[in-house]
Amino acid sequence: MAEQEIRKIGVLTSGGDAPGMNAAIRAVVRSALSKNMKVYGVHHGYNGLLEDDIEEMHIRSVSEIIHRGGTVLYTARSPEFLTLQGQQTAAANCRKHGIEAMVIIGGDGSFRGAKDLSAQEVPCVCIPGTIDNDIACTDYTIGYDTAMNTALEMVDKLRDTMLSHDRCSVVEVMGHRAGYIAANIGLAVGALVTVVPEKPLDVDKDIVSKMKFTKKMGKKHFIIIVAEGAGSAEQMAKEIEEKSGIEARPTVLGHVQRGGAPTVRDRVAATRFGYQAVELLSKGITDRVIGLRADDLVDFDIDEALSMKKSLDLSLLDINATLSV
Ligand code: ATP
Repeated sequence: MAEQEIRKIGVLTSGGDAPGMNAAIRAVVRSALSKNMKVYGVHHGYNGLLEDDIEEMHIRSVSEIIHRGGTVLYTARSPEFLTLQGQQTAAANCRKHGIEAMVIIGGDGSFRGAKDLSAQEVPCVCIPGTIDNDIACTDYTIGYDTAMNTALEMVDKLRDTMLSHDRCSVVEVMGHRAGYIAANIGLAVGALVTVVPEKPLDVDKDIVSKMKFTKKMGKKHFIIIVAEGAGSAEQMAKEIEEKSGIEARPTVLGHVQRGGAPTVRDRVAATRFGYQAVELLSKGITDRVIGLRADDLVDFDIDEALSMKKSLDLSLLDINATLSV
């Protein structure tokens, strides 16, 4: 709990950008102004605190951004902030502007940074913003829904061409450590097989044999979805083609999944998170990570949030395995 009323806050976006971050920034800025707080935007994540790249924000600073992907505050990964000296410099620059608390929008790395900033006496509230949905204390992270809808649209387009050529399409979607995007896209497009980091598969046994079996039953084209953390689409397509004799083409969707106008779900979640961050700070509640559980807003101590585990519901893969024949 902060001892004094917080009158000046800052906001930054850190780590990978995610569609909906702008809606969260808008909500933080306007909620703070509605409570007569001053609010400062920090550019380029923690680098902006180190380099004093900080601007005061006003009502119109966040006009016309609710529908835009990316982040108007820019984002970065900041190796320098990992050092104690970097953290001290960042806190000193906060003090220079009178910033008493920060709202940090990012993933769990950014939350670790928030903990360190807090140790330098700049308390923080964190908002989960990452397309990967891999933050344990929340069911939902900003950008996840938009990224999935983008991937869905791309795979639907690929499907048209794969179908015309009787090919196999191996599509790599984002997800280094977690297969949330892959598992849901696999189900949504009816992929023959979905490969996620949580459940390694054998190409021969789990993919090629299923292709051969379904081919005998009349299937002519095949979609395989692979999360980037579970393998490379290029290697997998090569192996599949060699072992099955069916032409297989890799597609890496890559950063296209990070862009675009945020969906309703992302804008609503981001707006609720941003509003709630300021509510907490206005009550002197700090060092929390905000989340959604069963669509209710929740918040946890940063340490507790970072220690939580979240696991992908592997039944999504089982359902898909039954239906994709
Ligand atoms: P994404 O999920 O998109 O990768 P993230 O927030 O997890 O987002 P990271 O690159 O892990 O992305 O972290 C963003 C930044 O947070 C880092 O560049 C660094 O400045 C800061 N950070 C990460 N880990 C720590 C840490 N242990 N201590 C201090 N700062 C950290």
